[in-house]
Amino acid sequence: MKKVPPTHVPMTQFSTENNCLIVGGIALTRLTQRVGKTPFYAYDRVLLNQRMNTLRNKLPDELHIHYAMKANPMPAVVQHLASLVDGFDLASQREMQVALDTTMAVENISMAGPGKRPEELASAVAAGITVNAESLNELDQIVLQSEKTGVQAEVAIRINPAFELKSSGMKMGGGPKQFGIDEELVPDALQRIQTLGLSFSGLHIYSGSQNLNAESIVETQQKAVELAIQLAPDYPCAMTKLNIGGGFGIPYFPGEQRLDLDYIGEHMANLCNKVKAELGTTQLIIELGRYIVGEAGIYVCRVVDRKISRGQVFLVTDGGLNHHLAATGNFGQIIRKNYPVAIGNKMADKQPEIASVVGPLCTPLDILADKMLLSRAEIGDLVVIYQSGAYGYTASPHQFLSQPEAAEVLV
Ligand SMILES: *Cc1c(COP(=O)(O)O)cnc(C)c1O
Repeated sequence: MKKVPPTHVPMTQFSTENNCLIVGGIALTRLTQRVGKTPFYAYDRVLLNQRMNTLRNKLPDELHIHYAMKANPMPAVVQHLASLVDGFDLASQREMQVALDTTMAVENISMAGPGKRPEELASAVAAGITVNAESLNELDQIVLQSEKTGVQAEVAIRINPAFELKSSGMKMGGGPKQFGIDEELVPDALQRIQTLGLSFSGLHIYSGSQNLNAESIVETQQKAVELAIQLAPDYPCAMTKLNIGGGFGIPYFPGEQRLDLDYIGEHMANLCNKVKAELGTTQLIIELGRYIVGEAGIYVCRVVDRKISRGQVFLVTDGGLNHHLAATGNFGQIIRKNYPVAIGNKMADKQPEIASVVGPLCTPLDILADKMLLSRAEIGDLVVIYQSGAYGYTASPHQFLSQPEAAEVLV
């Protein structure tokens, strides 16, 4: 029997009308006229709302859901999410400024990331946001900035746990890591917080990213909570916040399925009860980036040339690696695989063809789709890359080859 090759999950979050993709209630052709140029990223605000509704429905009520801003720091997106999520987690001073421009309360904003510079820490302390300390040196630096600014710093400890997040696309905990304070050193760090007179707010345990396996996510969450309970005798005061990370993935490649949120929700209910029983009033937090914004966004570029090279069809577009590094397979993928792609103004075609979508850059790495079954496209047609709401615009090398910048819209 012939093996059927795996396919992408259908991109059912977007509808079509008259063979045209609809984004934010607008036909893609019309939206393209409105934006006034290609390429561009478009994020659908109704899809953001829907995703947050689903999370609220499936996960326990008392769980706090934070948005990890690095997934998509576009100010309009962050502004929109400010009324939908319970907090922001950020990793730089500029992300902090975007977060502080919204209505989000500073108590619900935290900053993580190794190598925070003194001036960054000073701003964070002055703003009153929680600083997740990533090393013992950083604790000393936080004290210094606390003294300089005259503001008592809110400090949480980011732990590099001894366990790993299994089946994760990107591991960020377990073994030697630049992130967080090794689990073994945390009692010392807690002692230091007490001695230095810092205000202890809690723990941050983040183990990894892009996980589609609900069981391994649940297992990691349970281990994180157990670790927090085990360390409890060392806390200088009651812990107000326990951030157990996220890692919820979205399907990018053929054969991948959407995450089983029901399974996670059921187990998180027990987890919330456990936290209540063992740690009292501690607020349980998860932080999600791509799961909130990834599926709500598309990248759109236009076919500039159509050529056939030794029998293979190439659609040469005005967009590529410089705007969307991840879709070309150069943002952490080991083997290049295709994102879901469509011809946005020709959604149905009775005679599709195998074609490759490439960009204008002078490098063979500039491939947006490699030999995919697509509607037959001509010069002027619109290529859509789905699953592009996270790690798109700001995760790409815009300056490379000095091409025009992409636009970004929230629709
Ligand atoms: C990158 C990151 C996130 C977000 O990861 P996603 O895969 O987008 O959900 C959350 N927390 C921390 C600490 C991160 O570094």
